[in-house]
Amino acid sequence: MIARMTIAVLLATASITPPAISKEPHAQTTGFANDPFTRPMALEKAKEWLAPLPPEKVFGRSYLVGFKGLSVALIDTGSGLVLIDGALPQAAPAILENVRRLGFDPKSIKFILSTEPHFDHAGGLAALARDTGATVVASARGADGLRLGALARDDPQFGYGSRWPRVTRLRVMKDGEVLKLGRTAITAYATPGHTIGSMSWAWQACEGKTCKAIVFAASLNPVSAGGYRYTGPSSAAIVGGFAASYRRMDSLACDLLISAHPDNAGEGRYNDKLRPCRSYAERSRKLLAKRLASERGGTAE
Ligand SMILES: [Zn+2]
Repeated sequence: MIARMTIAVLLATASITPPAISKEPHAQTTGFANDPFTRPMALEKAKEWLAPLPPEKVFGRSYLVGFKGLSVALIDTGSGLVLIDGALPQAAPAILENVRRLGFDPKSIKFILSTEPHFDHAGGLAALARDTGATVVASARGADGLRLGALARDDPQFGYGSRWPRVTRLRVMKDGEVLKLGRTAITAYATPGHTIGSMSWAWQACEGKTCKAIVFAASLNPVSAGGYRYTGPSSAAIVGGFAASYRRMDSLACDLLISAHPDNAGEGRYNDKLRPCRSYAERSRKLLAKRLASERGGTAE
């Protein structure tokens, strides 16, 4: 209201005959902060997570279009684009700008794959889906969380109570199911633990005759709200999920690992050293063992 009044005053004082008033009176006041889909969240953490980086080719026609502290991947399949993860709500415009900087039209994004229903990876999905027309793809439990825009009761982070813009257009994929688009086949791999619906995504990227198996891994770290107990009886599915995810990560073809939070995969934006998915699982295995020991020893928060 104040902004509109200010504009009216400016128009009144700028010239005797004010220019024609736009038929959209809110046009000058809508934008970033007033868009409920991109309203900023977690301002302090966002400074670190959303530190900007230029878009970068990973291998073949696979790219990174995200940030220093949050990964967002882009795959050019030859018949449309696939994006993986959406970072925070306020990150959506910068992600689309990075897509454009690579020479692609964001409207060519057909699918946006989701790793987990947490605001730092799923907060931007609603805006990205709206602005591109893409369908969001997730596991069944992931899709439940994205539709709700809130944490599930069995989520170790439930106590944080975080909420983010809801996603309406969703496609559910099962463990082992393959999404085919153009020349690319992307396999969904359930990697539960961090959330029960966590999904990792694997595909092959080629340059000439050289191909690399790329894995975009969901977070696999045992992070919880205060008071949650991984040793509690209701956490059996979560702890069992971690064990299954470690076996999965150990067995996956994985030349190049992109982790939802890059710092969980080592240095830099991705890890293409020897067996990166195995070391990713090993890191989580150690963290979970430490956490379980601290709960049993009575020192956990
Ligand atoms: Zn998370």
